[in-house]
Amino acid sequence: MAWKYKKAVVIIVAHPDDETLWCGGTILSNTDWNTFVVCLCRGNDKERAPKFFKTLKSYKAKGIMGDIDDGPQQKPIDDEEIDREILRLLPPWHFDLIITHNPAGEYTRHIRHEEVSRSVIKLWHSGELSASELWTFAYEDGNRKYYPRPVKNANICNTLSGKVWQKKYNIITRTYGFDKGSFEALTTPAEESFWQFKTPGEAWNRLREFEKQNLTVLNSEIQK
Ligand SMILES: [Zn+2]
Repeated sequence: MAWKYKKAVVIIVAHPDDETLWCGGTILSNTDWNTFVVCLCRGNDKERAPKFFKTLKSYKAKGIMGDIDDGPQQKPIDDEEIDREILRLLPPWHFDLIITHNPAGEYTRHIRHEEVSRSVIKLWHSGELSASELWTFAYEDGNRKYYPRPVKNANICNTLSGKVWQKKYNIITRTYGFDKGSFEALTTPAEESFWQFKTPGEAWNRLREFEKQNLTVLNSEIQK
């Protein structure tokens, strides 16, 4: 059999379950990927950490966890702290592809998702992360009107087969143990969509655009 190059993919997420919710079907559909998952929070969570490592087995992936604060108050964390943790956890390799959160997150709202996205894009832009391309998750919840849905005009949209979706749903409900009526189980997207960036400059511009919009929203809220 001829030697086949396996695409080196790293998925960088805030929480155990984000890798499954937002791109689990894509991992399951790409068995020729060499996948590594970096999860930045909950490494010392005795309940959730083992579930994450069990999930990695279903994906035949490797991974590592950090222990960035994840309290319910969602206190903002310095960018530098997240940068440092990503660089500490990530193997110093070149990756063919990085997948991470969207600058606007996937729903309204978890600040860690936004912070992780910002750090990853900045580290790619500064050359501290080496990768050929970057995808960010592309989901929205209509400002809390509905469960997160794939963004229709995103660059990449993978419709999962029934079998793949079922496997993903089983990871959420059985391995992670989320109740059938939970946000996670009810969300579990059957389509997975991504914004694709071929250069760090494109991703950087998207981040700046988002930050400008966010600032405009904040200012208009202050003026009310
Ligand atoms: Zn999360």
